[in-house]
Amino acid sequence: MFSSPRFFAIVASIALAISGHAAENFDQFFRKNPTGTPTIDVYFSPLGGCTQAVVRELDGAKKTVLVQAYSFTNAPIAQALVGAHHRGVDVKMILDKSQRTEKYTEADFTAHAGIPTWIDSVHAIAHNKVMIIDDSTVITGSFNFTKAAEEHNAENLLVIHNAPDLAAKYTANWFVHQKHSEPYEGR
Ligand SMILES: [Zn+2]
Repeated sequence: MFSSPRFFAIVASIALAISGHAAENFDQFFRKNPTGTPTIDVYFSPLGGCTQAVVRELDGAKKTVLVQAYSFTNAPIAQALVGAHHRGVDVKMILDKSQRTEKYTEADFTAHAGIPTWIDSVHAIAHNKVMIIDDSTVITGSFNFTKAAEEHNAENLLVIHNAPDLAAKYTANWFVHQKHSEPYEGR
């Protein structure tokens, strides 16, 4: 009887039930995170959900969003930043100096919307791609906040939740760069 197809079907369904339960526990433990342990999600371009992940985090921002961007041509992300700004979230942004020579970009759109923006021209390139949200979430990776990074490039993006210690380090670095940057009004 133990070699019957029916027996294997029963074993397989029990195994599925157990693994489903384990996955649910994993989800509860790591994502809802009752212990305060940081949790990390990763996304890959092209078309692997990077833009949607950033927009989702910005839509959930409650107090602060600090941005460091090299290039900025991603319309959904720009709209989410402006949306957060309009909700009263304190949004600030530092951009690379190449922003000055590019044609009108999303950075001009967000600057015109009233988001305080600076250009960091101290470095060969200001190549960071970082967002720090509510002193707790850090978003970073190779993913530029651009249409090309979403649609055409091979990129990665980490979304790190419940990470106040890490967020504090990124925030300190954000202000190091902000101090030697110049205000940008948009064009
Ligand atoms: Zn700098």
